Amino acid sequence: MYVARILYPVNVLGPNNRLGIWLAICHHHCKDCSNKELWEATLEQKISVDDLFKTILQIHNYKKIDGFTITGGDPFYQSKELSLLIDKLLTISDDIIIYTGFTILQLHKKNDIDIENILQKIAVLIDGRYIEKLNDNSFMIGSNNQKRIILNPKYQDLYTKYFQENTNQIQNFILDDGIVSVGIHKNDFDKNIKKELKKKYGKK
Ligand code: SF4
Repeated sequence: MYVARILYPVNVLGPNNRLGIWLAICHHHCKDCSNKELWEATLEQKISVDDLFKTILQIHNYKKIDGFTITGGDPFYQSKELSLLIDKLLTISDDIIIYTGFTILQLHKKNDIDIENILQKIAVLIDGRYIEKLNDNSFMIGSNNQKRIILNPKYQDLYTKYFQENTNQIQNFILDDGIVSVGIHKNDFDKNIKKELKKKYGKK
């Protein structure tokens, strides 16, 4: 499968200390997508499900992973591998959130055994394309056409409360090749970053 990055601990895309997994590939091409670099996969991003899970286990053995948030890209463009991965992740935690640009109806209409396996086993699906003019900074969703769907009844109370009681926060990870800003950003985030960079480094 093609994995663009994994980060730990992610605390702003679901409760507790989560492992964030960003999968490459997305053909939705939403107009104001802020992850355009993840639309296509690169060869360096290729990793087997087994090797990815080994890495995840190493992290979990070092520090407990409470849950997973899987985004991208659109994870459902790799549904076969994702389905295998989900079955492995469940041995650590079934608190799994997935972001997708498809609606849940579109996913069910595909009649795909892997997609159904995923939907039966995860805690929450956040569905729908990103539409910038509908970005009202609602918690955990990029634009208000998207829905936070609690799929596992076991998590109904926890996530209902979590969605009601929290607001968006940003978490910055400093990596060797730059800063990754994680969380739901306001719709003027990209514009403001460009303005700040221009102020600091001049035109270029
Ligand atoms: S679904 Fe997400 S990653 Fe894909 S184009 Fe839309 S905003 Fe970008």
